[in-house]
Amino acid sequence: MFIAIDDTDSKEGMCTTFLATELIREFTDHSLLDYPRLVRLNPNIPWKTRGNGAVVITLGKGKKQKDHIGNVERDIFIYSGEQSDKKKEDVFKRAKGIVERWSEFDSERTDPGLIVGDKRPPDSFYHEAVKSIVELDRVKQHLKKENYLFKGYQGERGLIGALAALSWRPQDFTYELLTYRRKDDWGRPRDIPKKDVMELDRKLQKAFDSYDHEEEEQSIAPNSPCPVLYGVRGGDPDELKEAIDMIGGERPQRWMTFLTNQGTDDHIQEMSISKTEPWISAKVKGIVRSEPYTIKGGHVFFKMEDKTGKITAAAYEPTKSFREIVKKLMPGDKVELWGGIRDEPKTLNIEKMRVIKLTEKIVKVSNPECSECGKKMSSMGTDAGYRCKRCRTKADEDQAVRKEAERELREGLYEVPVSARRHLSKPLIRDNICRSTSRRSS
Ligand SMILES: [Zn+2]
Repeated sequence: MFIAIDDTDSKEGMCTTFLATELIREFTDHSLLDYPRLVRLNPNIPWKTRGNGAVVITLGKGKKQKDHIGNVERDIFIYSGEQSDKKKEDVFKRAKGIVERWSEFDSERTDPGLIVGDKRPPDSFYHEAVKSIVELDRVKQHLKKENYLFKGYQGERGLIGALAALSWRPQDFTYELLTYRRKDDWGRPRDIPKKDVMELDRKLQKAFDSYDHEEEEQSIAPNSPCPVLYGVRGGDPDELKEAIDMIGGERPQRWMTFLTNQGTDDHIQEMSISKTEPWISAKVKGIVRSEPYTIKGGHVFFKMEDKTGKITAAAYEPTKSFREIVKKLMPGDKVELWGGIRDEPKTLNIEKMRVIKLTEKIVKVSNPECSECGKKMSSMGTDAGYRCKRCRTKADEDQAVRKEAERELREGLYEVPVSARRHLSKPLIRDNICRSTSRRSS
């Protein structure tokens, strides 16, 4: 049996993953048959709460103990075993009580959704919800038709995320170990020693995005007053458990390992520029058609084009040093960009960039020599050509002596720093350290 929840949090606090640990604490009379799942959905949706993540837990009748995945007042294990839909009504009733106790109903933008059922919906719901937008009516129709027990609150949008998360069949996946604070400490500053995070970043081979080397800051703790103390992302759930001993300072009261779609690029769709539309995330290939330019606030833009159309690409101020790389582009360069699309004017917010082919950079070395008398000619103004002062011979602008200059940019892949990265964006480092060998099927 599955319990799926979404959108129980707000910008002010709470966290849907904490609610998952409350569900796990409640259902001691069932066994967990899988890691709880933390599923991130379309990061460009305008009405999302904080991270747009939904959570699913899988309950059943456990037979053989497998992995140790957390501690919530007791050690938590997952088991091999079988699903059963017995006590579905009872599970729904108890889960509903927990959702109603912990959700941030005070926030207008919090629209919790709860689903209990014993089968996974078609995975098209996941792909649509992570890449674009799924309509609430369609979700509710499906839930009714397939006899799920469900309840949506306020705007009910959480039902969309809950159903989408339930329909996820991991192809690519990662893990996040999340730790939680004592309730008395919620909202207080977190004590997380930076040197411990730096050491973790060095030692854990398959962890990623723990430390921001550019900002020289840890990036495992959220800035919000939510119950999370910190979360460490990586490809190996056993390795992640080492974080609990490595990170000193404030002690977590509970911890839980989640299976997630973070760092997978599942939100990205490869397409031509003319097919891009607001609220989706695209991967497009094209030619740079303008010098990069900076506007007030430090945002850097350039125009690019493929055979089908044009788009403006943006590296906003929070992408920090990534903007310096973008500024080195020149008209004629061939690039591939990953990023979310915004409307009015249509702009691609760059998450990652591949410089495929650099164009030649030709610089003027000197004015031409006169073809008649050999004297160095004089400029007649910007782009106005040249004239010989001695014999009045004229020459076009393109007669100037030029040479190819070295580009300051190299061909290859570039990404925004950790602090500016989307949960779903696949960090370049993942291609080297934690490509999964096993594939999950359910
Ligand atoms: Zn001359």
